[in-house]
Amino acid sequence: MRGPAFFETARRVARGLWLAVLLLAAPPALAQSEPAAAPAPVAPACHAHSADDVPLAAMLAPGRVWDCNGGGWNDSAPVSWLYFDAASWGSSAPQVFFTRISRFARIDIATVESDGTVRSATHDEQAARPIAAGPVFVLPLPAITEATTAVVVRIAGPHSSTMITEARLTTDPHNTDWGMEEILLLAIIAGMLVTPLIFDLHFYAILRDRFVLLHAAMVVAMISYVLLAGGLAPLLFDISLVTMAIGAPLAWTTGVAAAAFFLVAFLEQDALSPLFRGAMQAMGWWSLFGLSFFALQFRSTQSFDNLAYFLGFVPVILVYLACLVQAVLRGSRSGQFLAIAWIPIIAASTERLLRGIGVYAGPSTLDELVYLALALEVVIVALGVADRFVAIRRERDRAVAAALLLSDLSERDPLTGLMNRRAIDLRFGELRGGGYEALAVFDLDHFKAVNDRHGHDVGDRVLVTVAQVLRSDPDAFAVRIGGEEFVLMLRGDDIETRVERLRQMIPVKVAREIEVLDTMVTASVGLVSAQHGSVQDMTFILLYRRADELLYEAKAKGRNMLCSDTIDGASQSNRAMQRFEPMKIVGGTS
Ligand code: GH3
Ligand code: MG
Ligand code: MG
Repeated sequence: MRGPAFFETARRVARGLWLAVLLLAAPPALAQSEPAAAPAPVAPACHAHSADDVPLAAMLAPGRVWDCNGGGWNDSAPVSWLYFDAASWGSSAPQVFFTRISRFARIDIATVESDGTVRSATHDEQAARPIAAGPVFVLPLPAITEATTAVVVRIAGPHSSTMITEARLTTDPHNTDWGMEEILLLAIIAGMLVTPLIFDLHFYAILRDRFVLLHAAMVVAMISYVLLAGGLAPLLFDISLVTMAIGAPLAWTTGVAAAAFFLVAFLEQDALSPLFRGAMQAMGWWSLFGLSFFALQFRSTQSFDNLAYFLGFVPVILVYLACLVQAVLRGSRSGQFLAIAWIPIIAASTERLLRGIGVYAGPSTLDELVYLALALEVVIVALGVADRFVAIRRERDRAVAAALLLSDLSERDPLTGLMNRRAIDLRFGELRGGGYEALAVFDLDHFKAVNDRHGHDVGDRVLVTVAQVLRSDPDAFAVRIGGEEFVLMLRGDDIETRVERLRQMIPVKVAREIEVLDTMVTASVGLVSAQHGSVQDMTFILLYRRADELLYEAKAKGRNMLCSDTIDGASQSNRAMQRFEPMKIVGGTS
């Protein structure tokens, strides 16, 4: 009763790889703790299907058709029968019946003695105990004696083929097909799945994009799936067969739905055509509601829900494949990540699908392929999410930088690179709050003559050089307020000295930089400095007017000088405000 050779080989390779990892990672003691060889679980010699009302005696009567060649499994019949021959267990009598977790209506287990005596026990879902040895549950057997010739199991209302094909008798409830490696494999995969979840939450904190949450939802569903379908859950919680039986497929359908929505949200806008996008979304809803309904395994849907559940995945898989192909053909980078990540899981779930509908009866340990593919998927998609995260982040940073540049441009004078009038209007309050309480107005002397004699270009170079000088004080905020007029907001000590030093640097630096000039370019300055807090109530315009008046004084006194005033109290501030009644501030001061 083995699956096709290919799957068996794949399983062995996966298991071998896994064991190699474990031997490297696990302490040597663990590696050597293989239990002593116990008798292998006993498979049924024959099986049969019947209507609900056929009694055991009728099944054992001559002429009844049993299938003893392994084929013809059918989970849609009301009742399935399994015949375990005493010849197959030899001297070590089995103690328990176990099979793969699935819902059922009732299981009767009967022993048949050589004299025809039949002892039978009836079990319902509540009696079935999931054990942490693969996705299986156990039921006790009636006492087996020397005279027992057979054990016959009657399963009424089975909801899956695998619960019939994988039914076994064993001496030890933990001696199922599952060993320590599988349990550890699952535990490690579940642990691995937690890592991308942590990444997702961090990504989401930075980049509030829906696809990150959908990926997280998918990962949570897959962790639940691994714990429930892999059979780890009973190790962690006291969990009933019904919860396990319904929980695992529900986790899977939820995960598949999240994956469908994730694919649509994650791929670049132009990676899918609207038709494919819509189809994928429809598959998400179908999985969430249609497939989840069959996962519930109601009694009324017993005859078809297993087939419907598995066949229901066919369109989902096809649409997935079509979307991946289209995205890759359209050159989508995220599509390439998803294709690499999902080809193994699509292959493994296709195998699971074929086994689930009873096309063949592989061992349940083949599910390891799904878990390994899942782990692979999660790692690769996590890389893809990180890649997309970086791309989106870069795009947004670029957009933010462009927006900043634009707003900066609107606040800057293109000739000198200094801030402009608009900037100081916007930032005056902020500057004053930051301690910039002195304001100086610089105006070049006889600048018109420079232009007239040397041309506008030389005049421009003079302005650029003056800007360099004004920029050299780290505690001054320099603004080109008009033609050859500059405003400096200053903070700190010795403001008057610093302003005078800047003023005197102008002719020196200009002469050094612009050799064609034959006269000195000097500047006149009006400066208002204030004690801390005394200019709190003054607007930029009032402060500027006072400085401009001082500049006018400097011009009147013969230019190339600084005139300053200090405002050191409310009275003087008021005086300043009274003295500077409406006055035109735009344009020249001279
Ligand atoms: P004063 O000492 O009285 O200030 O004399 P002034 O010649 O500097 O006075 P005025 O304000 O009349 O002249 C300013 C000149 O500045 C007029 C204009 O030619 C020049 N100017 C204004 N903007 C620019 C500019 O962007 N580039 C150049 N090269 N010159 C400019
Ligand atoms: Mg001037
Ligand atoms: Mg001027």
